[in-house]
Amino acid sequence: MHRVNLNQVTFNQQVFDHASFGIALVSPEGLILTVNPAMEKMFGYTKEEFDSKPVGAFSHPDEPRIGLEELQKLMNEDNEAQVERRYLTKNGEVIWGLVSFKLFVNESNKPLYYIAQMINITRQKESERRLQESVERYTSLKKYNHDAVISFGLDGRIINTNKVAEKLTGYVTETELIGMKLSRLIGTENVNKILEKSLYDNSIEHDIGQLATKEGKFVEVLASIAPIFVSGQNIGFYLICKDISEQKELLLAKEAAETTNKAKSEFLAMMSHEIRTPMNGVIGMTDILLDMNDLNEEQRSCIEVIRQSGETLLNIINDILDLSKIEAGRTELQEENFDLRLCIKECFSVVSSKAEEKKLALSYTLNHDVPDYIYGDHERLKQVLLNLLGNAVKFTSKGSIAVKVERTKNNPNQLIFTVKDTGIGINPDRLEDIFEPFSQIDSFMNRRHEGTGLGLAISRRVVHMLGGEIHAESDGTDGSAFIFTIQYQEASEPVSENDSLELADMIQSNILLAEDNPVNRLVMSKMLERMGQKVTVVTNGKEAIEAVQREPFDIVFMDLHMPVLNGLDASQIIKRNLKEKSPRIVAVTANALKGDREKCLDAGMDEYISKPVKREAVLKLLRQFA
Ligand code: ADP
Repeated sequence: MHRVNLNQVTFNQQVFDHASFGIALVSPEGLILTVNPAMEKMFGYTKEEFDSKPVGAFSHPDEPRIGLEELQKLMNEDNEAQVERRYLTKNGEVIWGLVSFKLFVNESNKPLYYIAQMINITRQKESERRLQESVERYTSLKKYNHDAVISFGLDGRIINTNKVAEKLTGYVTETELIGMKLSRLIGTENVNKILEKSLYDNSIEHDIGQLATKEGKFVEVLASIAPIFVSGQNIGFYLICKDISEQKELLLAKEAAETTNKAKSEFLAMMSHEIRTPMNGVIGMTDILLDMNDLNEEQRSCIEVIRQSGETLLNIINDILDLSKIEAGRTELQEENFDLRLCIKECFSVVSSKAEEKKLALSYTLNHDVPDYIYGDHERLKQVLLNLLGNAVKFTSKGSIAVKVERTKNNPNQLIFTVKDTGIGINPDRLEDIFEPFSQIDSFMNRRHEGTGLGLAISRRVVHMLGGEIHAESDGTDGSAFIFTIQYQEASEPVSENDSLELADMIQSNILLAEDNPVNRLVMSKMLERMGQKVTVVTNGKEAIEAVQREPFDIVFMDLHMPVLNGLDASQIIKRNLKEKSPRIVAVTANALKGDREKCLDAGMDEYISKPVKREAVLKLLRQFA
């Protein structure tokens, strides 16, 4: 083997021994002759271990081979070559080396030896890699973003954009967007605002709602702005725009649907009111007729039919009104302390005669931990129970109907009601549908049971108002169970028992009735007179004011909608003029809508009852004010 005479090699021994970079002396055949201490240190091998090894022997296995041949190819005309590659140290560590080879030749151009100098550039490579990674990350963030990303400089001109920005605006990045004034997309004013104050005030984002496209159209966007800082200096901004045109359209459609639905509900509520007023006359008059003694049997039964039909019609109207009122968000709860047992008993008394006809057993159980008195909306709870009990009786021909009330274990403020029957049951597939408005299992043409199909829809809405949920359970044959929950509070004080003052015991009051509708006027005055009250009638608010000034009245029943002067204004004036001498004023409204009660009480009225005015409601009021 040709060996280099080391004496031929002229280099500075000082440099060789003390250099901070590695130096290797390589034979013309590519074998290592010697290395300096820095090289030993870099690799952890001793001089002896390097001795006679081929130059490529310490390379990382993933690097391309570098033998003599490759080296010669890399050489330039000065016989120099430079490579950057990975090496493996003795303990298996990977290091990056920047290696410069130089071939020394004699006068006849014969290779004498190579000198290889190696600098460890692992650290630089690592930070280079990190930089590359963050650049890639940033580019990906921009490139694969679902939103348009537009960077622009302090001169207001676009620096760069991504594909989404192209798609949204219709411009091409390279040829059109880069260098374009951003104001063409979002307007001069917005650009100025961003440049002037977006560093400390990001509310400007909300002002950018649209991007102008190349076609001259506008895309609805949600914008955000981020400043670009390079070496601590603000050199521009990112404008990131999310295309929300689709969402916006959906939102508009939803709003339109909601408005239509609300308008529909309001219309229904109004219509129902218009229908209820004349019904008031029909039912009220039959009541009065039936009270007369000189009717023969035939007349009595005809009037009964009118009354029954009137009641049925009114129930349907009430259901429609109730549902539309709830849907229009115009109902509110009327909470009070009440006796839970009594409430269930009252419901039973309504359905008991029908249940008796079919020989159905009615029963209820209250778990021991259910309080006797609770605070909540008594009427609404009754409405749900009555509905479920009514259905249970309707769809059960033999057996029993049982109501159970218990307290939810983990929720002390929740009660669970179960109404169970032994009736025809419900097809398990239909257990949810029946809560939809107008849904009945039998189709309209072959129905065996009467009803509007609104009961359960209303019940579900009312239960929601009471803070609970309702569902039905049935296997389709052995009866059904309806289970609902309500939120409640234990009553703070016991409920005062209704003092059942008999009609005969009632003191005669002097009553003023202000009502413009002649039918209502007749019904109401007849009703009051039959209760033994002294009644004076007037037909508008102005006459009511004059009457109370002329004569002392105990109670005024005041219709709200009257010509000349309405009930609210008249009440306000009476209360203001007469102060504590003023009579009690009871508002009579046709349509108990949310807020009506407050309006009446604000006007100084003392109570309020709704039409059609029921005998029981009037009796209760008379007792209350007696
Ligand atoms: P309606 O009783 O006025 O038809 P509902 O909304 O109260 O309307 O009930 C809807 C439908 O659900 C009823 O027509 C009936 O088919 C079914 N349903 C309700 N309750 C029961 C029950 N207890 N047993 C069997 N079917 C019932």
